[in-house]
Amino acid sequence: MITKPIRKHMETQFKGLPKKVLFCKKCVMSNQRPRIKFNKDGICGPCLYTERKKSKVIDYNKRNKMLLKLLDKHRKNNGDYDCIVPCSGGKDSSTVAHKLKYKYGMNPLCVTFSPPVYTHIGTENLRNFIESGFDHKLITPNGKIYKLLNKLCFIYFGDHEEPFDRGVLSAPIREAFNNNIKLVFYAENGEVEYGGDSTLENFPGMPWDRMEKIYFSSPFEKIIEAGKKDGYFKKYNIDLKQSYKIPFTLPNINELKKKKIEFHWWSFYNKWVPQNNFYYATEHCNFQANPEGRMEGTYSRYAQLDDATDSLLYYLMYIKYGIGRATSDAAHEIRDGHISREEGVRLVQKYDGEFPEKSFKIFLEYMDITEKEFWLIVDRFRQQHIWKKQNGKWQIREQVS
Ligand SMILES: [Zn+2]
Repeated sequence: MITKPIRKHMETQFKGLPKKVLFCKKCVMSNQRPRIKFNKDGICGPCLYTERKKSKVIDYNKRNKMLLKLLDKHRKNNGDYDCIVPCSGGKDSSTVAHKLKYKYGMNPLCVTFSPPVYTHIGTENLRNFIESGFDHKLITPNGKIYKLLNKLCFIYFGDHEEPFDRGVLSAPIREAFNNNIKLVFYAENGEVEYGGDSTLENFPGMPWDRMEKIYFSSPFEKIIEAGKKDGYFKKYNIDLKQSYKIPFTLPNINELKKKKIEFHWWSFYNKWVPQNNFYYATEHCNFQANPEGRMEGTYSRYAQLDDATDSLLYYLMYIKYGIGRATSDAAHEIRDGHISREEGVRLVQKYDGEFPEKSFKIFLEYMDITEKEFWLIVDRFRQQHIWKKQNGKWQIREQVS
């Protein structure tokens, strides 16, 4: 049941979005991405940031010295782990872990938080990564609870991966906390690389308070409450005394500060170019691109391969914001100079919003919902300024050109 507080929280994700859709003049990103900012010339924040990365404004030599100092501070040299690297076995995190260990002599413990449904290629890549020389820990939450939380987040929030996203962030930090490891190295600052809170540009890592505010203050608890009221916990036979919070919450942030645990982004110290990570991880960690070819909804075949429900997440982003997977991929590749804006526009027009037929069946089965229920839920998240109905069919109003 969509109660008033739930409706309010459903709407918070659209709060502040401009009603007039604009596309960046340099890349293909639109102004509908949450927290993104455009300047007066119609250029998006990540494009402006890329300019600064390429110019001398960001001095990577200086930042590399800062990195060496940071690593010297934490390096243990006695066989103990000196840092945690969250690692899915994907190209980006594998590259970060490999460079930390084999270029800088650190001894990382790599931690993966399990996606809702592993793909075959995802498990292969994770195994290849571990076999390239890493200690590794896989954190898998209670499958029954995980499934229900994913389902509730889909129903009430149109984002079934909210629990996964939380786990990916919190599980490695919890490992650091529990094992007294003082350094956690995440890959990239997505807020500035892909669009979000640009005030974080000069931060080497996310301050704990900001992390809690941006990623952990969402309606998750409200969603759980609604799920309880609507009888889902009973239906799934989940005892409310069971812990369903720990895998999806941060340790107490005052305790994190007291223990002096530090969170850093690799992308602060090194220029972040996903395509370079692909080449590096292929060479050093036996990373494999998707053998089935491109991922649904985009032209790329090497990003985010581990989760079989991921294509649905991108499809839901397309429904909510008119931004699909091809837009996200093309925007970054245009900024990095790998493709032209013209090529990007063509790829977005061709692939963005492609319905993920292959993943759909897996998704319905995992969520335990019918196709009819799926569309009823999805249609709740269409915004009027993004979609119009013509001859009984939904059509997107604006596409990049
Ligand atoms: Zn742009």
